[in-house]
Amino acid sequence: MNKTTRVMPAHKHIALVAHDNYKPELLRWVKENKDALQGHFLYATGTTGRILSKETGLAIKSLLSGPMGGDQQLGALISEGKIDMMIFFWDPLNAVPHDPDVKALLRIATVWNVPVAMNRASAKFMISAPQMEEEVSIEIPDYDAYLAERV
Ligand code: PGA
Repeated sequence: MNKTTRVMPAHKHIALVAHDNYKPELLRWVKENKDALQGHFLYATGTTGRILSKETGLAIKSLLSGPMGGDQQLGALISEGKIDMMIFFWDPLNAVPHDPDVKALLRIATVWNVPVAMNRASAKFMISAPQMEEEVSIEIPDYDAYLAERV
């Protein structure tokens, strides 16, 4: 499929998700980066979001809990161009009941070229990037052109 571009605003829409064993790790990261995160719009799956906002005081739009459809809600927002980046500390050592949803979320983030950090090191690089405070143009699939050719 051909590409077009989408402009991410300077104030990013950031999704935060952590599986249960990694919620303390994400909470620690969010506390460490609270000042940087404050200037952006934050979203999270249900339990993650409630823990993070209670413990940090940050305003976070909490969706449904991941296993109850929250991952799919995030995937839908990504498909609509409403999420600019995602920090997703998924659990590499334990199975989760909603594994197909996790896979679907990671897949759709890749389709739409959304930056995803899946551990502390990549999250550190992401939050430290100068592009966090600037408008950024990213390539996305040109679905409208594809449709125009086919229909
Ligand atoms: P939760 O969901 O934040 O509601 O625990 C996390 C997940 O998507 O697995």
